[in-house]
Amino acid sequence: GCPLVYFDNAATTQRPRQVIEAITETYEMHYGNVHRGIHRLADETTELYENARQRIAQFLNAKSHEEIVFTSGATAGINLVARAWGDAYVQEGDEILVSELEHHSNLVPWFQLAERTGAVIRYIPITDEGLLAREQLERLLSPRTKLVAITAVSNVLGTIVPLTEIIAAAHATGALVLVDAAQSVPHRKTDGQSLNADFLVFSGHKMLGPSGVGVLYGKREILESMPPFMGGGSMIREVRMDGFIPGDLPYRFEAGTPPIVPAIGMKAAIDYLERVGLERIDQYERELVKRLHQELETLDFVRILGPKPEEKSGIVSFVVERIHAHDIAQLLDHVGVAVRAGHHCAMPLHKRLGVTASVRASFYFYNLPEEIERLLEGLDRAVRLFRRRK
Ligand code: PMP
Repeated sequence: GCPLVYFDNAATTQRPRQVIEAITETYEMHYGNVHRGIHRLADETTELYENARQRIAQFLNAKSHEEIVFTSGATAGINLVARAWGDAYVQEGDEILVSELEHHSNLVPWFQLAERTGAVIRYIPITDEGLLAREQLERLLSPRTKLVAITAVSNVLGTIVPLTEIIAAAHATGALVLVDAAQSVPHRKTDGQSLNADFLVFSGHKMLGPSGVGVLYGKREILESMPPFMGGGSMIREVRMDGFIPGDLPYRFEAGTPPIVPAIGMKAAIDYLERVGLERIDQYERELVKRLHQELETLDFVRILGPKPEEKSGIVSFVVERIHAHDIAQLLDHVGVAVRAGHHCAMPLHKRLGVTASVRASFYFYNLPEEIERLLEGLDRAVRLFRRRK
């Protein structure tokens, strides 16, 4: 009964008509399987799918489309690296360095790798403001560090991580770097070559695209050195009775029928985002963050988590004194404001901050400043209701 305010963009975004039309048109007019058929529909689909890969390579300023592997999402990309690279190169006593900001998707695959290999997981701590304690980095990096797996932007605090510095320091000690860019690629310009990460992952559904598709971007020489993770059709050059020869990049990591139409939809999403302009998107969302911060800071019963707005991308998480985050989210939902409540797949981070759950408002460029007022009105109602009940 009231207009929707959608502030759950860190979980997933809404898609524009152009993306939906690209998907529908593919299914209606150009749909076959890729890389297989010698018929027109299969050729058309293959061309659209490979165009999507080229477009993503260009979007990320990758050196080549061979560095772009389609996955089912950021989580799948991290698991692919943990399995294919990790099982081949990580041994007992080696160290994987993560941070206290990480999403479970960038923790659990490394725990699992540690279980398989005897590797050790170490953490770059954060400050009480939710910034990475950079001065600890030198102490933590050593020749034992095989990989630094780190988020670009915290999905809870919005903290922007100083990647350039971390990547340079990691490379200086011989470690590789995986960047979990699920919360940054959709909002901020990413230049793969100047960033110089070895692996970078993200998901289509958080950037106006369909669910079920994501990208693992990896440096060609490193991807080439990795055995395939999943086996099946399309990832081989040759199969004999007694074995197989893996295919070339990027196909050796795309076993089976890939997320064809979602990848094509993701291209349409990128076209849309680039028309709007990522610099503009970033700037605009930061204005929204500043505004919400200013308002929340006037409420003595609210604790904002994380750093100052200047250090944040478009995410604001907070806790309300004596009211559980789920209750706040539910009451906000009654007035049409969608936020997320809980641990946001970052339980260790919440523990570090001394809370079990938080309310998260996460923005995208289609959100409006007036919508922040709706959130604040809803919050005010919720607090008054709870105070009356006590
Ligand atoms: N990393 C971060 C920082 C995220 O925010 C998310 C999604 N919440 C993921 C990884 C996982 O993304 P997906 O579920 O699309 O694989």
